[in-house]
Amino acid sequence: MHVELRRIFGFQNFRPNQEEIVSALLERRDVFAVMPTGGGKSLCYQLPAHMLEGLCVVVSPLISLMKDQVDAAKANGLDAEFLNSSLSGKERFRVFQALENHQLDLLYVSPERFAMPEFMTTLKQARVSFFAIDEAHCISEWGHDFRPDYLSLSNIVKYFPKSAVAAFTATATHKVSADIVSKLGLRNPHLTRASFDRPNLFYQVVPKDNLDLQLLQFLREHQGESGIIYRTTRKSVESTAEFLQEQGVKALAYHAGLTPNQRKENQDSFNRDEANVVVATIAFGMGIDKSNVRFVLHGDLPKNMEGYYQETGRAGRDGEPAHCRLFFNRSDIVRIRYFIEQTESPAEKKVAEEQLFQIVRFAEANACRRKNLLGYFGETYEKDNCKTCDVCMGDVERVDKTVSAQKIMSAIHRSGQKFGAVHIADIVVGAKTQKIRQMEHDQLKTYGVGKDQDKKYWRRVIDDLLAQDCLLQNQDHYSALELTPKGQQILLGKKRFEVIRQKAVQKASFAGLTGDYSQKLFTQLRSERQRLAQGEEVPPFVIFSDRTLREMALYFPDTPEQMSGISGIGEAKLEKYGDTFMTIIEMYKHMHPEEAEERAILQVPVKIKKSRKKKNGKTVRDTLAFAMQGLSLEAISGKRGLSEGTISQHIEKLLEEGLGNNLDVDQLLETEKRLRVEELFNQHGGKSMKLIIEASGDTVTYAELRLVRAFMQMES
Ligand code: ADP
Ligand code: ZN
Repeated sequence: MHVELRRIFGFQNFRPNQEEIVSALLERRDVFAVMPTGGGKSLCYQLPAHMLEGLCVVVSPLISLMKDQVDAAKANGLDAEFLNSSLSGKERFRVFQALENHQLDLLYVSPERFAMPEFMTTLKQARVSFFAIDEAHCISEWGHDFRPDYLSLSNIVKYFPKSAVAAFTATATHKVSADIVSKLGLRNPHLTRASFDRPNLFYQVVPKDNLDLQLLQFLREHQGESGIIYRTTRKSVESTAEFLQEQGVKALAYHAGLTPNQRKENQDSFNRDEANVVVATIAFGMGIDKSNVRFVLHGDLPKNMEGYYQETGRAGRDGEPAHCRLFFNRSDIVRIRYFIEQTESPAEKKVAEEQLFQIVRFAEANACRRKNLLGYFGETYEKDNCKTCDVCMGDVERVDKTVSAQKIMSAIHRSGQKFGAVHIADIVVGAKTQKIRQMEHDQLKTYGVGKDQDKKYWRRVIDDLLAQDCLLQNQDHYSALELTPKGQQILLGKKRFEVIRQKAVQKASFAGLTGDYSQKLFTQLRSERQRLAQGEEVPPFVIFSDRTLREMALYFPDTPEQMSGISGIGEAKLEKYGDTFMTIIEMYKHMHPEEAEERAILQVPVKIKKSRKKKNGKTVRDTLAFAMQGLSLEAISGKRGLSEGTISQHIEKLLEEGLGNNLDVDQLLETEKRLRVEELFNQHGGKSMKLIIEASGDTVTYAELRLVRAFMQMES
């Protein structure tokens, strides 16, 4: 299991729970796993799919994601295909053939396939080792994404009694969990409920004043990174997106008012790193499989904690640090309260109010954000300081409000703990309402003690007291405010009452997991990834994750052995992209010798010691064979599915070893171009390829330079 994890996926270790799940599946046991987004669910079924005889059928609700998932599996060398309505007849035929010939490890299908009797017959003959059901909460009416199609999956156990069934979800309350297990009819499944903690996410709440400018400032500090900005209404999405576009940010809008085509287009450009930012309503959700979302910003207060958790959860799936910032202004509370008032059912109203209270408390409480968020899911966070939230990092200011708190609580106490927030605030400011006269509350000692502040101020103190459990609202008695034991201690002067106010925003102060990598090299590696991705028509993260590029920019690997030590590089990717990226790293080292020297002392954690010489030799010889047939650089690269950079490197090697004496540079590259490159070398010397490329106005590539240089060197 570990050997294959390293060989295929290029990962050093399992993430929490993955190992147990893979083991269970290797024993063909049913599995039910609740893991947060980014927990690494796909590996849990892809690894056993590769190791077990027979086929793994993956059921996934989103047609739009299947292709990316299959591309990602293929990039790791797995035999994967998908079947859905987007395939042409010819493509479908090809997939069915592969199925019949038992050539597949993985087949991704949409749930509606299971309602098709022919498909069942085909599967019966396909030797299914196990089924993996993604987004399994879609089968439950209790969940927030119920899909009637999913109900047909409850037949799997009956039709395929010998195959195991593994169900995965990221969103399950205990009620939904039980429902999934029973609807699917799982047989004594291996149960996993992972922690919902996402240690690589930095949580922060900042005061909102001029949102658009604040967003722009954030984006300026995070140039080149991908992220999502959530806003509540279509109108605000449009206006923020427009503002950012005017400021030169590559931002796109996403909301349910756009046509499905527009939505898909915008999502695709985001996936492909063509747009950096999507400004979206919560309609932008499940379809995001992008692993390198570096920030999620909330321009408005979310409606509830569950939503906030899911939305921020889209950041940092690759395990690299990501930033979650909520811009908060108390006027948002008023806006949400207004909508709650419109609700008709009293039960719904009560739930909505409770949810609002929880999220306000998250934003305002003088306590670790992470602890608060996990507490919502019934999880206890044990550490005192999470080190990755603004409160724990001391990015907030603490203000003593003991006296104000005592004034409020004294009013509550003296009026008999029978009144709600509005009336209590009225007492403290000394308002002359009818109710006050009626109750004779103008006779209370606390009447008017808070005249120096307005009512809004006192409402805020009440909210703060509620948020810190000093007061509670008696739900059975008109939301009357009552003192808790903690509140009483403050009233009696035995404890102080502090609230937090956010300081002016600073840059998040925590170091990345990959620490001190070279930004410049990272940028170059990223543009190469972008170029390759465009060529192969896949999203960039299918080629390498940000994590992988960052490790490269940290360790500067320049041999295949070192390269395979980098997280996320298994055999298939090493073979396909290793040379290309090593070339860039080599060039970079050449141009920054001091930096290169510093890095030389860092050791890439070696995963497998295995000589790759033989294979490399073979792949270079394959290139030679094509070159001997008189093909051009471009054509060879196309035929071999390797980049031009790699092919030119092969040719360089061949020439160095004296094997390419019969090759003609003009066959590989147009004569005109070759002459231009030679002239560029003569003008600028051979030291900096980057300079030459810039001087040429980007009309020549590294691959071409490398090729011509190799021939020039041979001749000289
Ligand atoms: P989920 O479906 O649970 O949201 P994914 O399967 O998309 O998560 O995985 C999230 C990211 O984590 C991917 O980039 C994946 O390559 C990476 N990943 C998964 N398992 C590991 C591991 N054991 N070590 C390092 N990275 C991993
Ligand atoms: Zn914290």
